[in-house]
Amino acid sequence: MSVNGDYDVTVIGAGIHGAGVAQAATARGYRTLVLEATAVAGATSSRSSKLIHGGLRYLEQAEFGLVRECLRERELLLKLAPDLVRLRNFRIPVYRDTHRRPWQLRAGLSLYALLAGLSTHSLFRTIPRRRWNDLDGLDTRGLQAVFEYQDGQTDDAALTRAVLRSAMTLGAELRMPARFLGAERTPDGMEIRYEQGGRQERCKSRVVVNAAGPWVSETVARIHPQPPAVAVDLVRGTHLMLDIPARECIYYMEVPEDGRAVFLMPWRGVSLLGTTESPYDGADPGAVEPQQEEQQYLARLMRRYFPGLGFKILDSFAGLRVLPRDNTRPFVRGRELILQSDDAHRPRILSLYGGKLTSYRADADKVLRRLVHALPQRTPIADTRRLPLTPVA
Ligand SMILES: Cc1cc2nc3c(=O)[nH]c(=O)nc-3n(C[C@H](O)[C@H](O)[C@H](O)COP(=O)(O)OP(=O)(O)OC[C@H]3O[C@@H](n4cnc5c(N)ncnc54)[C@H](O)[C@@H]3O)c2cc1C
Repeated sequence: MSVNGDYDVTVIGAGIHGAGVAQAATARGYRTLVLEATAVAGATSSRSSKLIHGGLRYLEQAEFGLVRECLRERELLLKLAPDLVRLRNFRIPVYRDTHRRPWQLRAGLSLYALLAGLSTHSLFRTIPRRRWNDLDGLDTRGLQAVFEYQDGQTDDAALTRAVLRSAMTLGAELRMPARFLGAERTPDGMEIRYEQGGRQERCKSRVVVNAAGPWVSETVARIHPQPPAVAVDLVRGTHLMLDIPARECIYYMEVPEDGRAVFLMPWRGVSLLGTTESPYDGADPGAVEPQQEEQQYLARLMRRYFPGLGFKILDSFAGLRVLPRDNTRPFVRGRELILQSDDAHRPRILSLYGGKLTSYRADADKVLRRLVHALPQRTPIADTRRLPLTPVA
């Protein structure tokens, strides 16, 4: 088995994080390889809620840094990727029995606007009572207020493909389908084994970035000597595609029983409803499927908020969140990306746990900053804050 290539950075996984790290690495002039086992955005990065947002509800967990960063990235993506990311009106209905009171939402939305730098589209308003009949069939019994603000929506898989294309235009190499099998630490980096086209291949790399999403722990276990790992839970999130014609706006609904947030969004001419949060204990993250009780949970919510609107479920899909392990409900656990390396000063392997689609670019920057002492000096060729992203035909 000969050594097939010598790289600065090898990225495992071509989801949004792998694509983002590949783009950031090539922009800094590093020789970069991406290994993807199945397809670009073949896992979580095509099964998200597709929102490019600060995450209004993260304010309740006092994740101000995350919200500010995501809002900043939202602004940037609206400029860099106007064909992939667009603003939508979000509507939040508040009923007599809604857990979050109107004053709390007003305070939250004001803070959200402040964290967005009070840009023109960060302002919010309430929809006057006389317009409540135009709310797409929303139940108005017991309705106290409807707030409207703006946030972003994208096509997550298309965004991932665009970021990876940008990386490849700058010089990144993609091997796909190519499954990472293992890596051994050597005096000057890592020696990597992967499988492609039924053959085992090897390559060398100064560093390995583990962006394998829900396979992150499995990937850590394949590295020798084994680097420290973060204990995580995999949490399934299911979406339903409903035959309701797409509306321009997104409804942000609170689940009365547990205070969770569920969105009804326009998607490919119809409507997308999601998501759930259920622990996943399957052995294979690739086998995640929507469950019947999740479909019932979401359908019940739909009937509660839009009682007169008949609907059929056209399709459904599920993805896995990677959340830090603890005893709290998944909904309130941190959404910030966690970086874990084998060596704080000169890492050879860096693993990415969790994170958000929205902040992929800023997160990729953090990854490269962590790796700088393990990499040779190279001349940067681009700045990801200025690279336009266009849909891949
Ligand atoms: C239900 C749900 C809704 C969400 N909604 C939002 C949202 O609205 N907005 C937002 O900002 N974020 C959202 N997120 C978060 C966001 O979607 C994820 O953080 C992001 O998509 C994760 O991307 P990733 O690249 O880390 O993982 P993935 O997209 O899962 O990519 C990992 C890749 O690694 C590959 N791989 C694994 N093992 C190997 C191997 N051995 N060799 C080679 N390749 C391998 C896989 O094939 C896969 O393609 C949501 C997440 C979920 C689950």
